[in-house]
Amino acid sequence: MENLITKVAQEILKAKRITALTGAGMSAESGIPTFRDKGGFWEKYDPNEYAHINTFFTNPEKPWQMLKAFDKEVKAEPNPGHIALAELEKMGYLNEVITQNVDNLHQQAGNTDVIEFHGNFRRALCLTCGRYYEMGKINLDVLPPRCECKGVLKPDAVFFGEPIPEDAFRRAHEASQKCKLMLVVGTSAVVYPAASMPQVAKQYGAKVIEVNPEPTPLTGYISDYIIIGKAGEILPGIVNELKKLTGCST
Ligand code: NAD
Repeated sequence: MENLITKVAQEILKAKRITALTGAGMSAESGIPTFRDKGGFWEKYDPNEYAHINTFFTNPEKPWQMLKAFDKEVKAEPNPGHIALAELEKMGYLNEVITQNVDNLHQQAGNTDVIEFHGNFRRALCLTCGRYYEMGKINLDVLPPRCECKGVLKPDAVFFGEPIPEDAFRRAHEASQKCKLMLVVGTSAVVYPAASMPQVAKQYGAKVIEVNPEPTPLTGYISDYIIIGKAGEILPGIVNELKKLTGCST
């Protein structure tokens, strides 16, 4: 394992442009369950039902009920994995993060270029006039919440059955083509089109490195290495190794 971390740190030093692709596992150590966690939040609120766009149009209070419960039950802060990715950016190694997560934790940790592939649950928008609201400022006593213009508010996240926002898709695709190394962290790589980004990176000649406690469909085919383990342990380990190799102590 130590050898592998050193190898990956050396690859990072060689690469001229680095992109990270993150998924739900990135935030698992912040207390946000992944879809695959047993006995968790998503067993009570099946995302296929509560986070499907058809449910939103037929019964908008349902997704809002889930969000209200989520806000009450899950108080998440960035974990050492998020902090390590923010540090990688500050150190000048990481260009951008493409995230499938909607929890805003990369932004909170300090990454400044986060491509929100599936939107962001910390914002909502009015489906009638297009005005944006910060989630914390919305009154959730009566659901669904409404805009001043009386239009229904929708969380600004991509629901199942909705397309990826055009700008996020274009930027993610460009970043995947341009990067020389892609760090793929905490994603099962089964949700498309996000899962195609490492394939694009590979096709354009980048090294692909996974960090995940379990192998994924990319392992052994697309990825050059997988470091088996948790994001909150492996990523700080990589940052420390980079500091050792470059003699940088901060
Ligand atoms: P997923 O639930 O399909 O897979 C999670 C992956 O994370 C698995 O491969 C698992 O082995 C790995 N994992 C678990 N704990 C980890 C840890 N500590 N460190 C590193 N990896 C860990 O998630 P997905 O691939 O992101 O796809 C599911 C969809 O659901 C995505 O759209 C995702 O954005 C969304 N989702 C988002 C959140 C969030 O915003 N935090 C939470 C749940 C689901």
